Amino acid sequence: MLDARMTGEVRRRAALRRDLLPMPAIVIADRPAWRKCARPVDNRCEDSRMRGQATVLHLDLDAFFAAVEQRDKPSLRGKAVVVGGVGPRGVVATASYEARRHGVRSAMPMSEARSRCPQAAFLSPRFEAYRRSSEVLMTRLRQLSPLVEPLSLDEAYVDLEHLTDVAGGDIRDVGRLAGDLRADITRLTGGLTASVGVGTSKLVAKIASDLAKPDGCVTVAPGTEQELIRPMGVGVIPGVGPATAERLRRIGVHTVAELEAVPPRELVQLLGAAVGQTLARLARADDDRPVVPERETKSVSVEDTFETDLVDAALLTAVVDRMSARVAERLSRERLSGRTVTLKVRRHDFGTHTRSVTLAGPTDDSRVIARLARGLLRDVDASDGIRLLGVGVSGLADWIQDDLFQEVEELPVLVDDRSERRDEQRRHGRWWPGSDLWHTEHGAGWVWGAGSGRVTVRFETATTPAGPVRTFAADDPALSAAPPAGPIASQS
Ligand SMILES: [Mg+2]
Repeated sequence: MLDARMTGEVRRRAALRRDLLPMPAIVIADRPAWRKCARPVDNRCEDSRMRGQATVLHLDLDAFFAAVEQRDKPSLRGKAVVVGGVGPRGVVATASYEARRHGVRSAMPMSEARSRCPQAAFLSPRFEAYRRSSEVLMTRLRQLSPLVEPLSLDEAYVDLEHLTDVAGGDIRDVGRLAGDLRADITRLTGGLTASVGVGTSKLVAKIASDLAKPDGCVTVAPGTEQELIRPMGVGVIPGVGPATAERLRRIGVHTVAELEAVPPRELVQLLGAAVGQTLARLARADDDRPVVPERETKSVSVEDTFETDLVDAALLTAVVDRMSARVAERLSRERLSGRTVTLKVRRHDFGTHTRSVTLAGPTDDSRVIARLARGLLRDVDASDGIRLLGVGVSGLADWIQDDLFQEVEELPVLVDDRSERRDEQRRHGRWWPGSDLWHTEHGAGWVWGAGSGRVTVRFETATTPAGPVRTFAADDPALSAAPPAGPIASQS
C-alpha cells in the first residue's frame, strides 16, 4: 500500500533540497537498495497488491469547458474556442482542439493564447452549464459502480472490480462496456465526447485514457503495463510535472525506462523518501492505490457567525486571514491539500452566497488560501453588514500532486467560479464574453463581445442553427442576464 502523502512540509523540504543538492552522477548500484524490493520478481515489489484484472476505468471528457461552449453556441462548432480568465492576468482553463492546433494549452497566460490564436473566441467560464453536464456524467458513472472517484467536474476513476462477469471475463467485455458508457454520455450530455482508459491500476487507466483522446477508448491488457509505459516520457507518471521532469532530466532521465533503471536508493537521495520511493514504484507500473469514492465531496472549512454584522473591510480581511490559517492547519494535520478555495458569505438579510476559485494544482499553504479568499472577499459588497463568513478548501487531492516540485505560490488560478456573476451583470451592466442573456424581443443569446458601453450579442442556443449578431447599448433595458440555455434542464 502506498501510504506516503505529499504534505506541505514534504514539499517545502523538497523545495529546500533542490537548492542544496549538487547534481549527482548516477551511481549504478549492484543490488536494489529499497528494503521492500529484496526479491525483485518481475521487477515489482513483493508487498504489492496489484490487481490481476483490468478493473480500473478512468474517464475524461474531451476539452470539457470548450466542448460545452461549442455545444451551446452553434456558431463556434469546429472553431477555435478558449475558455478562461479574460482579464489581464487570466489564464487558459480549457482550449478546444481547434485552438490546441495553434499551441494554446491549459494554464497558459491568456495574453499568450491571444497572440498564438487571435482568431479564437475567448470566453469566460459558465460554471452552471458545466456543473449540469458534470452531474449527468457522475450520475451515469454511479450506475456502473458505487466506487466512483471524481477528480474534477469532468474526470473520474471508476472501480469495476465488483462486476465479476467483466472482471473475470475477457478484455473485450470491458471494451464493450466502455463503448456503451461513452455512447450514453454523449447522448445524455447533448453531444459531449469522453475518452476512456481501462487497466489494472489508476496509473495505467489514466495513461490509457490520455492515449484514447479524443473520443476513444484504450484498454491495457494485464501484464503489458510496463511494456506500454517504458518508452513514454517521465511526464506520464503522476506527480512528474515540468519541475520534477527538469530535475530528472538533469540526471539524464527522460523516459520511464530510464527512470526504472535508476536504483530506488538514488531516487530517494535525489528526491527524498516519499517522492523517490513512489516514483520508483510507479516507474515499474506498480500502483495499488484504491479508488476512493468520497474524495471530491470532502472539504475542510471553518465558518463563524458574528454577534453583530461586520462592515469594516480591514476587520473582514483579518477574519478571512485567520480562517485561512485554521483551514491550512487542519489540512496539514490530515495530510490533505485541495485545489478549490471557497468563501461563504451570509449578509444581514440572510442571503447566503458562495464564491470559489480553483487552482491548477492542490495547496495546503495558508498564504495561498488567504490570498485567494481575500480576492473573493474583495468582490463582496459589505456595506450593509456581513453576518457570517466561511473559508473552505475542497477538491482534496490524492497525495500525488500535479507536480511534486511546483512551488505552490506559482500555481495559476485555473477557474474562477462566482455564483453572483449574473447578479453583478444585472447590477453593473458588465457583460462577460460567453455569458448567457435574454432579449425581450430576440430571445436567448450570448455575449459575443462587450466594451465602451456596448454589448454585441449572438442569438443562438444549443438547439438552434448559428444565429445573427446584433449590438446594443450595455444598459439596454431589453437585455437581462439569463441562466444557461443548454440542452440539459436545470436540476437545482
Ligand atoms: Mg477533460
